[in-house]
Amino acid sequence: MSDRHIDAAWVLPNPNDPAVSNRVIRMAGGVITSIDAGEGSNRSEGRSRSLVMPALSNAHDHARVARLSQVGSFDVPLEAWLPYLALIPAVDPYLSSAVSFGRTARGGVGSVMAHYTRVQGLTDFPTEARAVAKAARDVGVNMALAVHCRDKNPLVYDPHEEMLARLSPSACECISRRFLRPPVPAAEQVAMVEAVAADIEGHGVTVQYGPAGVQWCTDEMLRLIGKASAESSRRVHMHLLETRYQRNWADRHFPGGIVNYLDEIGLVNERVSFAHCIYLRPDEMDLIARRGATIAINTSSNFIVSSGVASVGEMLQRGCRIAMGLDGLSFDEDEDALREMRLAYAVHKAHGFDIRLPRPDLLRFATGNGRFAVTGDGAGGEVKPGAPADLLVLDWDRLSAELVEPDVPPLDLVLAKARQDYIQGLYVGGREVVREGKVTGVDLPALELELLKTLRDAAGTTSDIRAAMPELRDALASHYQGQFYCG
Ligand SMILES: [Zn+2]
Repeated sequence: MSDRHIDAAWVLPNPNDPAVSNRVIRMAGGVITSIDAGEGSNRSEGRSRSLVMPALSNAHDHARVARLSQVGSFDVPLEAWLPYLALIPAVDPYLSSAVSFGRTARGGVGSVMAHYTRVQGLTDFPTEARAVAKAARDVGVNMALAVHCRDKNPLVYDPHEEMLARLSPSACECISRRFLRPPVPAAEQVAMVEAVAADIEGHGVTVQYGPAGVQWCTDEMLRLIGKASAESSRRVHMHLLETRYQRNWADRHFPGGIVNYLDEIGLVNERVSFAHCIYLRPDEMDLIARRGATIAINTSSNFIVSSGVASVGEMLQRGCRIAMGLDGLSFDEDEDALREMRLAYAVHKAHGFDIRLPRPDLLRFATGNGRFAVTGDGAGGEVKPGAPADLLVLDWDRLSAELVEPDVPPLDLVLAKARQDYIQGLYVGGREVVREGKVTGVDLPALELELLKTLRDAAGTTSDIRAAMPELRDALASHYQGQFYCG
C-alpha cells in the first residue's frame, strides 16, 4: 500500500487526551506509521483544514434496504413494525448491501455490524453472502456479517393461533402463507455459519453467529451456538431485551433470569455483543460487565420504534462496555453516525451536574468499542502510531467558522454540531473510502437511484401483505396490550 498522509489542524488522539494541533499523520500497510508536528494545513491543495479523529463504528445494523417512511411503517412499535419489513421487495443483495454500506461510510463509519436478519433469498444463502462481502469490500468498510439464525415464534413471542384468529379469513391466509414457513433445522443453520465463514472471511470481512434473539431461537439452537462459538472463538451478535414485551416474555419463560440462562449456555462473554438491552436489570448489567460482553445502544432506533430509553449511565457505572449502533433506523433516515453520537450524548450525558455519560466513555462508545464488537480487534479507537488507520476527517474550517473565543476545545464543536456533511474524508485500513463527502469505491448516487427504481418496480409483489397489514397491526396491538400486566 502506498504511503499516505493527512495534514491535520487538530487531532483527537484518543478518548482520554485533549486535542493536539498541527500534526502530519502518515499511514502505510493499513496502520498509522507516524504522527509528527507539522503545518496542519491543506491549503496548498486548496482544501479546508482538517480535524482528524478515530473513525466511528456501527455495532448494530442490518444492511437494510429501505427506510421506514418509504414503506409506510413510520410510527409503528417494534412488534408490529417487524412484519412491515416483509413489505420491502427482495432485491439484488449486492445492490442493497452496496447502498447500505456506502451510506454507512458516508455517515462516518469505518466498521459495521450487518446482522443479516433480512435475507433477500433470490439465490442460495452462500451466494448471497458472497455478494454482501463483495459490497463491503468495494465500499471499503470493515464488516461483520452476523448470519441470522432463527427457528421459532415467527409472528409473536408466544403461540400465534389466538392472534391469527382475530384476523379476517383473507388476512389470516396471507399472513400464514407469508410468515409461517417451517424453519430450517437448528443444526443446519448453525453449520451454515461456518461454511459461509470459510468462504468469505478476510480482507475486512468477518462472520459472526447472529441468533435473532432468545424469543426467536430454540434452546437447542442457542446451545449449539454457545458451544460452536466456544470451540471456534467465532463472535456472536444478538438482540436482547429490546422492548417491555420481550422483558415480559423473558420473565415468564426464564424465572431464573434470561441473562443467567445465556451465561449458562456460553453466550455471555467477551465474544458476544447484545443489541438494545433497554430492559436489563442491574444484576444483569453486573453479570454482562463481569463477563466482558458488549452492549450495542441504538438511541435513534429506540425512539423511532417506540421501544424506550436504555439505562446507559447505569450500565457504565456497573462497568459494561457499550458501543453505538444505528440499527438501520437513524434519526433522519440518513445513516449519519455523527448525529447519532451527538443524539446519544444529548440523551444520556447528564442529569444536571450529575454526569452519566462522560466524554471519554462517549468516544469509546462511538469508536473503539464498536470496532471491537465488529472485528474482535481491540486496537481501534485511537490515533497513534501502530493503530489501525481508521480515521474520520472533518472540515475544521466549517466547524470553527463561527468561533468567537479561539480556545474552545475542538471536541465541543464536534459534539455541538458535527453532521455527515462536515465529513471531508474517511480512511479504513489506510484506504480513502470517502473523499470530500463522496464514497470512492462505488457510485453511491447511481446505486441509490437503481435501488429506488428496483423497489418501486417490485412494489406490486407485496401488495397482498400491504392489504393485510392494518388488520395484523391491530391484532398485534391487542395481543401485546392484552398480555402485558406489569405496568
Ligand atoms: Zn436490530
